[in-house]
Amino acid sequence: MESICSLESLKKRLALTPDEASFQEKGHLPVKISDYYFHLIDPDDPDDPIRRQVVPTIHEYQARTWEDIDPLEEVAHSITDRLIHRYKSRVAFLVTDYCATYCRHCFRRRFTGTMHGPATREDIQTAADYCARHPEVTEILLTGGDMLTLSDEKIDEMLAMFRAARPDLVIRICTRIPVTFPERITDHLVQVITSHRSAAFYLMVQFNHPRELTPQSIAAVAKFVDHGIPAMNQSVLLRGVNDDADTLEELCNKLLAARIKPYYLFQGDLVEGTDYFRVPLEKGMQIEQELRRRLSGLAMPVYTSDLPHGGGKIPLCQDYLVSHGDDGSWTFRTPEGGLRHYHDPNVQG
Ligand SMILES: *Cc1c(COP(=O)(O)O)cnc(C)c1O
Ligand code: SF4
Repeated sequence: MESICSLESLKKRLALTPDEASFQEKGHLPVKISDYYFHLIDPDDPDDPIRRQVVPTIHEYQARTWEDIDPLEEVAHSITDRLIHRYKSRVAFLVTDYCATYCRHCFRRRFTGTMHGPATREDIQTAADYCARHPEVTEILLTGGDMLTLSDEKIDEMLAMFRAARPDLVIRICTRIPVTFPERITDHLVQVITSHRSAAFYLMVQFNHPRELTPQSIAAVAKFVDHGIPAMNQSVLLRGVNDDADTLEELCNKLLAARIKPYYLFQGDLVEGTDYFRVPLEKGMQIEQELRRRLSGLAMPVYTSDLPHGGGKIPLCQDYLVSHGDDGSWTFRTPEGGLRHYHDPNVQG
């Protein structure tokens, strides 16, 4: 079966709720759900966590005064319309605005699905030249949209251009395709990528719910890991999808078992139209505390907010430091809620 590419075609395959059926595509993030991802939905459950991520509702119209279309101020940090230089040592390149499946919580909806299409050779060359002139840049995030919507030939050509300019650049392949369209991950694709291995690649994926870890998606990620490309996961904390410690505990442990390191758990950005997904910070902090008690250090992601007005990423966690004095005495709270004193032997008190 083909992907579902409009609300009309979705209506033919799923009994929509009134909130879903009243969505208007015009002017909003397009509807697109791969056949594979669609089949993960339980059609009898209107609150299904997979469905919630991809089936649009009228709630997307509810722009709040505190929301913005570009809360990370990516445009202000842009070198070109596709190259963002927000952090000194790394740049993000928007390879394309297409995705295999559009997520209703997408934070880059100012760009995603706007039909700009893939970067031209000239766009890529400009970005590569910029990296060549900026040796302080040590990593590039190839993102979008989803770069793996490009053909193998285009990916090969793009990687060759970046490698020619900067053979030492660590490249992050940022993609949700292993989660939403795993059949795209072929041996040939992985060969194309690894043929440019003059420096490390990392695979950055986005699993948000344990049910997304299917034999197919696990096998898709394994193709990268087996070829020396480590996999990292960036989840988004989403109301009605994964906003409880049990679901996230299961997700993180399953990720770890699949050789995918839980890297970030993002607080939802203040992006227009995503209010119904947002989890209160207070609740997010409680979930983070609970996860820290339950998960191993390897399985624990960093709960992170990308602050509004382009403030950048900060870790969100409870403060374990209670007090400290000039005499080298420190007092900490333990994860279980006790107190411990630490006297710093380097300070003469
Ligand atoms: C998140 C982000 C990065 C990477 O940040 P890390 O904390 O290194 O993962 C780089 N550039 C932009 C614009 C980002 O939003
Ligand atoms: S795959 Fe990423 S860029 Fe594409 S819609 Fe989902 S969150 Fe947005």
